[in-house]
Amino acid sequence: MPNENSRLDEIQPSVQLDLHRHVGSPAWFARTAALVMMVGATVGIGVHANFSVYNSYNAATAGSVPSPFSMIASMGPSARSGQPGLSLTGPMSDGSPIARVLLEEVDSSPVKQARIMRGDTLAGVLVKAGVELADAHSAITALSEHLNVRRLKEGQEIELTFGNDDPTRDEQTLQGIRLQSEVESAVRVARQDDGSFASAVEAIKLDTHATRAGGEIDESLYVAMQKAGVPHNVISEFIRIYSWDVDFQREIQPGDSFEIFFDRYEDKGQMVKTGPLLYAGLTLSGKQHHLYLYTASDDGNADYYDEKGQSVRKALLKTPIDGAKLTSGFGNRTHPILGYTKMHKGLDFGAAKGTPIHAAGDGTIEMAGANGSYGNYVRIRHNGTFATAYAHMSGFGKGITKGSRVRQGDVIGYVGTTGRSTGPHLHYEVLKEARQVDPRGIKMPTGRALAGKELDSFKTAMDRVKDQIAALPVTKQLVAAAE
Ligand SMILES: [Zn+2]
Repeated sequence: MPNENSRLDEIQPSVQLDLHRHVGSPAWFARTAALVMMVGATVGIGVHANFSVYNSYNAATAGSVPSPFSMIASMGPSARSGQPGLSLTGPMSDGSPIARVLLEEVDSSPVKQARIMRGDTLAGVLVKAGVELADAHSAITALSEHLNVRRLKEGQEIELTFGNDDPTRDEQTLQGIRLQSEVESAVRVARQDDGSFASAVEAIKLDTHATRAGGEIDESLYVAMQKAGVPHNVISEFIRIYSWDVDFQREIQPGDSFEIFFDRYEDKGQMVKTGPLLYAGLTLSGKQHHLYLYTASDDGNADYYDEKGQSVRKALLKTPIDGAKLTSGFGNRTHPILGYTKMHKGLDFGAAKGTPIHAAGDGTIEMAGANGSYGNYVRIRHNGTFATAYAHMSGFGKGITKGSRVRQGDVIGYVGTTGRSTGPHLHYEVLKEARQVDPRGIKMPTGRALAGKELDSFKTAMDRVKDQIAALPVTKQLVAAAE
């Protein structure tokens, strides 16, 4: 066997793929899609949650195909791999003895590409492509060792290799299958000498490109970034980290600009995945803001810091009122007025009427006014995730109206007993994704200020990123540049 070990590095036990599960996985994209939608709704911008353009696979198969099975290409394997014959040898991920996966004869044999369409079964697609039913079943059994064949998505491509290894027969029989359902791995199936099929996982090496992109903001940051072809997950991360400090609805002016630096991963020239945002820059009315991703060496937590080493995250004040006493906690209680057991979705702080109430964190006033049983009520949106609400107030702080900006500690109102209330107190709620949560139970990210050795190490890392950025041209069109 000439190529016995030459392709060993192409085969990886599938357990190694766990390394790539987080960033770039379908779940990851789904989470970022949800975040974009959430942030998009918050800052009042249009949302396009179509991620398929960033997946080479989906992008290639997005077009509609008239027939349930379509032949996309027919070509020899050397055109794809540059290898005169492909011998795949490697340990199987399930620990079974090394399987010899042989595709040597495929050089002269046709490769067909099939595609799963709505309502198709994998067996059906294989049979339509000319695979004998018995072969289809045993090939699928081999495939099933590495992927759930029932979970294949509509549009999934399957590469089929045919050959004639039995001189007593005329027809071409299935020799191999290659199916890539993940960004970084494909499953290969190949016929063995005894006629059975064996499978192995092939790791796909992506090309990494350090990418610097930027542009002017004409209408909204979101639109500008989208026009520049910035992946949605990167846009949402940018908005998330700046929402602690920037009100994207009010503070963006024409002529403002953004800049980003991140790694983009490509498979055959198509961007299939992005790394974390390593740097985010925003110029607002001529003033530059810079944020750098940094993982603290002492606790291992990654966060975004400004040039002085101050985290962008701002913790909420634990008690938004001075000298007050917690009189009722979060959870079930017998309601003092209604008399029956009711979930108390906030904290009550007893205090004298007129005691100032402070904004628990920086943010934008989402509502300020009478609000039913809440009485005089203020709600502050702090970022895409968190808001806080204050109820039963006797009056509002100066300038506290819908849309106005507050800083942590600003007086937003005064203790009272308006609405459904038995006496002067502040009813305080923390809302996470529009749901009341127990303020004492949530893990509010705290804003850390790096100091000492940690600050030194941050500055070294920041300078390294600055050098990398300075050495790169600014890409104005990301997707176009990648194609
Ligand atoms: Zn209450």
